[in-house]
Amino acid sequence: MKFEQINFAKQTSIRIGGIVNVAIIESADEFKNFNNYKIIGGGNNLLVSENPETKLMMLSKNFDYIYLENNILRVGGATPNGKIFNFAKKNNLTGFEFLQNIPSRLGGLIKMNAGMKNYEIANIIHSVSTLSGKKNRADINFKYRFSGIDEPIIEAEFIANNFGFSHELVELFKNMRSNQPKEPSAGSLFKNPEGYSAGKLIDEVGLKGFRIGDMAWSNIHANFLINLGGGKFHEAIELINLAETRVFDKFGVKLTREVCIVL
Ligand SMILES: Cc1cc2nc3c(=O)[nH]c(=O)nc-3n(C[C@H](O)[C@H](O)[C@H](O)COP(=O)(O)OP(=O)(O)OC[C@H]3O[C@@H](n4cnc5c(N)ncnc54)[C@H](O)[C@@H]3O)c2cc1C
Repeated sequence: MKFEQINFAKQTSIRIGGIVNVAIIESADEFKNFNNYKIIGGGNNLLVSENPETKLMMLSKNFDYIYLENNILRVGGATPNGKIFNFAKKNNLTGFEFLQNIPSRLGGLIKMNAGMKNYEIANIIHSVSTLSGKKNRADINFKYRFSGIDEPIIEAEFIANNFGFSHELVELFKNMRSNQPKEPSAGSLFKNPEGYSAGKLIDEVGLKGFRIGDMAWSNIHANFLINLGGGKFHEAIELINLAETRVFDKFGVKLTREVCIVL
């Protein structure tokens, strides 16, 4: 069994978290030794405490692969989004263009049903292999930023017969990023409640730009919780709680966290 000391203040995109001994899964057989462990991916949607009690595991490089066989693309759970994007571009496959702008590995991408506007990973999936077996797309209850998959994602298959990689779409997604802050963050902190924009709600309760310590709701997009340098886990949690309370008190809207908090 292999473990690695991971510094989450470096590993996660929001640059917060302690140094944790993480189990590295080298083959699917090894999962049986880590029943009560939580699986993580690239750390782009994680807020990890400085001393988490949750036991963590991640897929090793053995799960970083792409094979194209008879029009089926088989992609390993640890494959970075950039590699999938480049593969699609090189092979003139469409449907993958949005991946360039979503920092991720395949497992996290599917778990979160990540996407931009109407373009979500669920749209192009053929099947997902999890610890309990292979599930077809139709059997997975994908919704907005939700897959309902609560076990390790090992691999996914995509049908690779949709040709015409679109450089126009790549440009469109790039432009959609122009209103996002450059400081470290975990992307959108809350999901957009139906009929509302989470960023607008946070703005309307006076929290846009509001800072505690070195954490703040961004001035550029209020649904981004940004780290201004030495941000701490407790500062992030205080800001999250404050936004949830104020938005509920003023609008009666319950914000749902998109970010995964690891305690
Ligand atoms: C600057 C920035 C912009 C972003 N923009 C977007 C955007 O436009 N749209 C969007 O949807 N997201 C966006 N995100 C959020 C993030 O990129 C996605 O949620 C991404 O899919 C997370 O992938 P990850 O590999 O980093 O997963 P992690 O952050 O490591 O984990 C996220 C969740 O997935 C689970 N998970 C990870 N790997 C596996 C696995 N193999 N099996 C089962 N569960 C697993 C974890 O337990 C956790 O619950 C953005 C993030 C940043 C930092």
